[in-house]
Amino acid sequence: MESFLQEEVNKFMKEKNKSNISASDYQKQAKETAIFPPATALEYLTLGLVGEAGEIANKVKKIIRDKLPPENWKHDLPSEIGDVLWYCAVLADYLDYDLGKIMENNLEKLHSRKKRGVLGGSGDNR
Ligand SMILES: [Mg+2]
Repeated sequence: MESFLQEEVNKFMKEKNKSNISASDYQKQAKETAIFPPATALEYLTLGLVGEAGEIANKVKKIIRDKLPPENWKHDLPSEIGDVLWYCAVLADYLDYDLGKIMENNLEKLHSRKKRGVLGGSGDNR
């Protein structure tokens, strides 16, 4: 049973249309909805991730092509971003990585690059 304080936090966040789910909790719950053939898990999850990213790209392509204003497309993208996130979370889990830790490491890398003035440019090991 949730504490009174936790219930108040959840209520506040819902009112603000914000979430207080942690990356690790999201990953655990995403895993519960994952159904794929174990023998080809890596391929399945990678193709799924790329496919969902492609759905975003296709929508953005049409936005550009049809010169659509944000009110015509902005509401479509969060769901697709969520689909990409699901594959990231489940792929990370498959590889035995914690999604929250991956997020932390990524931010650490990017802030380091920013501090050193190498955010621009290319190369994984900047
Ligand atoms: Mg999708």
